[in-house]
Amino acid sequence: MADRFASLASREITRPIGFLTVACPNNSPITQYPNNSISQSHNSTLALQPFKGWVVRTPDDHFDPSRFTMMDYRLRWQDTTCFTYVLPMSRREALVEFTLFTPTLPPEGAYDEMLRQYFDKILKIKEFEIVETEFGIIPMTDFPFEKYSSGKHVRIGTAGGWVKPSSGYSFKNCERNSQKIIENMKAGRPANTGLFSSKFRFYDSVFLGVLQAQNELGPSLFNGMYAKNDIQKIFAFLDNETSLVEDLGIISGFPKWPFLRSLFNYLAR
Ligand SMILES: Cc1cc2nc3c(=O)[nH]c(=O)nc-3n(C[C@H](O)[C@H](O)[C@H](O)COP(=O)(O)OP(=O)(O)OC[C@H]3O[C@@H](n4cnc5c(N)ncnc54)[C@H](O)[C@@H]3O)c2cc1C
Repeated sequence: MADRFASLASREITRPIGFLTVACPNNSPITQYPNNSISQSHNSTLALQPFKGWVVRTPDDHFDPSRFTMMDYRLRWQDTTCFTYVLPMSRREALVEFTLFTPTLPPEGAYDEMLRQYFDKILKIKEFEIVETEFGIIPMTDFPFEKYSSGKHVRIGTAGGWVKPSSGYSFKNCERNSQKIIENMKAGRPANTGLFSSKFRFYDSVFLGVLQAQNELGPSLFNGMYAKNDIQKIFAFLDNETSLVEDLGIISGFPKWPFLRSLFNYLAR
């Protein structure tokens, strides 16, 4: 959808900026990012979400297509926040993906090693065929991309800050923001009106600060969140769709000190 909107909103030219590519007219008045803006910014936090997945096929039934594993923290790469998820497509086919939320990238062989271990120790599947692999690195950052858009020229996707900093998810934001931009344009409002929630950006910043400073805490934070809250409420929270009361219910389940420390760092920057 972001692609389609980019071609509608700007029929001129697309220009790469660092590792991000944005749709932006050649003589646009849009403010440019400073050079190496994200990595050198003292006012934002950057973590990485590298992942590798195998789509596998097995000779026997091993998966239940009506269930999926969202974040399995049982296997750890060193002391990092890392997990494996399993999305079955049928009883004999699934995407199994190893993912990290990390300040630094692991060595290249780590992904295959962890996936192999997951099949061996957790899934206990000995025989399978890898029919497809996928790999990516998603930036997780609270860099204020939205400041570099204007009412007439709106950066979209990653370059627009549509990747949720604390989860790396972007599809939901792409869907919601594309719709919002169309509504704004139809109503004659500046196109970037109401695209960002400062409340959720604040939560994301504090959470990202904890992951950056104490990456080893990730598994207990996520496991605690899933254990203590209703799953539909968690999905709504991750989609920036909860009320303040619901937020407080979820936030109160997190350990206080790491979050207070991150909050002080956030306020001091
Ligand atoms: C394997 C994989 C799995 C993922 N799974 C999920 C998921 O389950 N959920 C989720 O929320 N996110 C997921 N993501 C992340 C998500 O895909 C990205 O965050 C999102 O696509 C970023 O949107 P974007 O518009 O910035 O970039 P893209 O979706 O990559 O769009 C950029 C577009 O610009 C085009 N382009 C680039 N350079 C130029 C140029 N110079 N001229 C013209 N066109 C150009 C590209 O061809 C591309 O179509 C996944 C990513 C990967 C790689």
